[in-house]
Amino acid sequence: MKIKFIDFERQQNRISDLLKKNIDLVLSKNSFIMGPQIQELENKLCQFTGARFCTTCSSGTDALLMPLMAWGIGPGDAVFVPAFTFFATAEMPALLGATPIFVDISPQTFLINPELLEKAILRVKSEGKLHPRAIIPVDLFGQPASYELILPFANELHIPVLEDAAQAFGSRRNGKNACNTGCEASATSFFPAKPLGCYGDGGAVFTNNPELAEVLQSIRVHGKGIHKYANVRIGLNGRLDTIQAAVLLAKMEIFPWEIEQRSRVADDYAQNLSGIDGVSTPIVQEGSKSVWAQYCITLSNNTRDKLAKFLAENDIPTNIYYPCPLPALKLFPDNEECKEKFPCAWETSQKILALPFHPYLTSKEIEYICSKIRDFFS
Ligand SMILES: *Cc1c(COP(=O)(O)O)cnc(C)c1O
Repeated sequence: MKIKFIDFERQQNRISDLLKKNIDLVLSKNSFIMGPQIQELENKLCQFTGARFCTTCSSGTDALLMPLMAWGIGPGDAVFVPAFTFFATAEMPALLGATPIFVDISPQTFLINPELLEKAILRVKSEGKLHPRAIIPVDLFGQPASYELILPFANELHIPVLEDAAQAFGSRRNGKNACNTGCEASATSFFPAKPLGCYGDGGAVFTNNPELAEVLQSIRVHGKGIHKYANVRIGLNGRLDTIQAAVLLAKMEIFPWEIEQRSRVADDYAQNLSGIDGVSTPIVQEGSKSVWAQYCITLSNNTRDKLAKFLAENDIPTNIYYPCPLPALKLFPDNEECKEKFPCAWETSQKILALPFHPYLTSKEIEYICSKIRDFFS
């Protein structure tokens, strides 16, 4: 049996008529830039999340950059990010000249550790060299961070929280949808491999604050003012392509069903993998519904790479998210102390393995994958 890590073809077949109709409409009207589908999509995304304002943009990376620009983040500012995430979470504050301050994760959920976050903020404050200016918790692998613990002290210290929901659109925590978790702003990505992906790059920023929404829309188009040649600030060319909005409108039709399927696949994996010595299946926090951007297992001592090789030999692709915690990257100053300073991020990077995951994975395929994992350990 040949397994795909993500099966885009099966999804495309399911929506091909609607996809073609939606894309043809953009082609026939030549409405490639900011066509009516952009507003239509933004309305749908607001409806879906319950957030008041949605500004679509060219990528999840720009969706992180734009709120940071709106807040005037720059040199001398500290922005708190988890030590274990995709590079962009730390890259965007650094691009603006701010200093990313890394915080270790909780070992079971891989999410930023709220206690260590509060400690890090107080430490930076008392050192007095940098101004704590923003926090970017990440909804890693599809489940929201612990906002109920983070927001109270962030609000008390007047530090805005930017939710990095690039991997978590469609997830929920304590009755709140990702991208509407009570943070000042939330960023998501429509990169093809994300839970709601388009056929190229795309992203969106959500907020309930009308003033911030207006600034975000200005930043998206070169800092435009009342018209596009009355520029009032430095901005970006950060628009989402209309064709990608047309793709997303088609995908949104089946997205609630796909979320259910993702839960089915995760449950099926958990059942089939239970009782294998040396394999730990992922844990979702009580009160959360994950959208399963990735299904990451952790393996006991030094078996990860051998298992990955064995699975590859059996036509089962796997991936490692992420093989290197961000503070261990050479470009960051503390890289040589990463293992001691961020032990959970370090250990996770050595043990984690993402299994094939998409809403169209069948029970037979899951059984096959898990039987090979069982074979490896017996
Ligand atoms: C994918 C991702 C991003 C960046 O999104 P792009 O659309 O690829 O720019 C940012 N943060 C996290 C956690 C991601 O997984």
